Order: sequence, then C-alpha cells, then structure tokens
Amino acid sequence: MILPIRQRGDPILRLKAKRFLHLSDYPIRELAVNMLETMHAANGIGLAAPQVGESLQVIVVDISQCEDSTSLLTMDGEDCYPQKVMPLVLINPQITKVGGQVTRAEGCLSCPGIVGDIERFEFVTVLAETLDYPQVNLEAHGLLARVLQHEMDHLNGILFMDRIVKHPSSPNWLSVALNE
Ligand code: ZN
Repeated sequence: MILPIRQRGDPILRLKAKRFLHLSDYPIRELAVNMLETMHAANGIGLAAPQVGESLQVIVVDISQCEDSTSLLTMDGEDCYPQKVMPLVLINPQITKVGGQVTRAEGCLSCPGIVGDIERFEFVTVLAETLDYPQVNLEAHGLLARVLQHEMDHLNGILFMDRIVKHPSSPNWLSVALNE
C-alpha cells in the first residue's frame, strides 16, 4: 500500500523515533512492505518510518537503480555487491563507526523541490536488526553510506536541510533561501 509521505513542517518529522520492540505485535513486515512500495512509487532511494507517520526506528533503502554511483558494502565482514542485497530494511539502526568526509547534493521526499550540498561521512559502520536477523553489522561507503546517514537523521528528527552547507561557493547554496 502506498502511504502518504509527510512533508516538512509536519511535527512527526522532528520527533526522535522510538526503538522498535519485538515484544509488541506491531506488524513490522507490513510497515516495511508499505514503506518500500511508497519509496519506489516516489522514485526514492531511502525512506524512514516517520516520513510515513510512524515514529519508529525503521528505515528502508534501495540503491539498486543507482548503477552510476559507487557504493561498497560489507555485511558481517563479508563483501557484498550492494545492488544484489537491495532493498534493505533496517530496524533500530545505530552508527558505530564513521570516517572520511564528502560533500554532495542531496534531496528528500519530505522536502520536494529542495536540493542542497550536504557534508557526510564517506563511510559508516551500522549495527541494526533486519526482518530476518537479530543483528547485522554493515559497513557502507559512497552513496549507500550517504543514504544511511540521511535516513538515520530522520530517526533523530533531523532533516537534510538542517545540514545544508551554507556557503555561497556551494553550487546548491541558493536552495538555502527556501529553508524554514
Ligand atoms: Zn529524507
């Protein structure tokens, strides 16, 4: 089911999302399937649960259509071809290690029409649950690392616009004028 995507200004986007507890009978698979369907319908590459009105620590990512952007991924220490393991559904993700810095243009399904240059870590190590495993350890580089950071920001009530590099030499600096 395609869900409405909450837009900037909606207070749910500013809340800290709750950890998902398996003790609850919340239909997590249904939420994940709906989030994937919603993300794909909007041509997005990542979506966080608060964007569809659920203040829970769940994110989905699918960069399989981004063949032109470099991403590297290891899962539990094994090298993976990122395109092959997509889409990812990550529950209660936590960043455990970061490194490098890269500035690149970004947008967000909750902030249509706004693009800005954002500085992010070049790689992140993320500990998370998935629908099938109680714990996976991901190390992501490149675009995938950027998407993970963007989506995990949503779980902390942070929008990408908060991080736009506010410098006139930035080619996308103009979009800052549209900031809240
Ligand atoms: Zn976003």
